[in-house]
Amino acid sequence: LREQLQNADKLNAVSQLAASVAHEIRNPMTTIRGFLQILKEEENLSEKQETFISISLEEIDRTQNIIGDFLSLARPNNNDCAMIHLTKTIEEVKNFMQAYAAICNVHIFTEIEKELFIKGNINECKQLFINLIKNGIEAMPTGGTIEIYSYKTDHNVIIEINDNGVGLSPHQLKKLGQPYYSTKTKGTGLGLMICFDIIKRMNGEYQISSEENIGTSFKMHFPL
Ligand code: ADP
Ligand code: MG
Repeated sequence: LREQLQNADKLNAVSQLAASVAHEIRNPMTTIRGFLQILKEEENLSEKQETFISISLEEIDRTQNIIGDFLSLARPNNNDCAMIHLTKTIEEVKNFMQAYAAICNVHIFTEIEKELFIKGNINECKQLFINLIKNGIEAMPTGGTIEIYSYKTDHNVIIEINDNGVGLSPHQLKKLGQPYYSTKTKGTGLGLMICFDIIKRMNGEYQISSEENIGTSFKMHFPL
């Protein structure tokens, strides 16, 4: 139990720290990437120069992925708690993710009950949905559909995010949320850790069910 407690503290410290670092390094990184891109288009580069530039670009992309997973946690006022309008928030996140989904041939379908509210920090809540939708999209390399449902029961608001992607083996399922656990070449293994942390701070709970080559379902419960 003590170890669990210590781990929880560590995770919190990790995300707080990473959040502020992420915020500070985002802009300079964009500048560096821009200049590298220009350099790459120079004529008469040696093979060595070309390789080095390509590797640098890839590494920058990897870093930006890490930052992306922390994106809105890095925004100011991240302790503000309020009532979050789910219909509005989920539609906003859907629009935000639409471009990425389209590139990956993924359709995002939503069915959200009207006038559903949960309590939490709006930026963190968006981050939660972004990370889960992103994972869903990335689990469907040849395209597919992400279905998002939200409705209320007697005491809870339920949010489901389902994909029909590659799914997870029971062994992988156990590893979910461990920092740096990733099966992707450019993965960070931080996205889900952040999600679980956010859900906990919103007093929510979650269940994950998954079947290999069938898909994955994330079900979250938040107090009404
Ligand atoms: P990352 O996406 O950077 O790999 P995450 O913490 O977001 O890190 O996810 C960790 C791992 O969990 C992923 O690499 C993937 O193996 C698995 N995973 C997460 N979501 C899904 C999903 N919807 N379908 C299949 N596998 C998933
Ligand atoms: Mg992810």
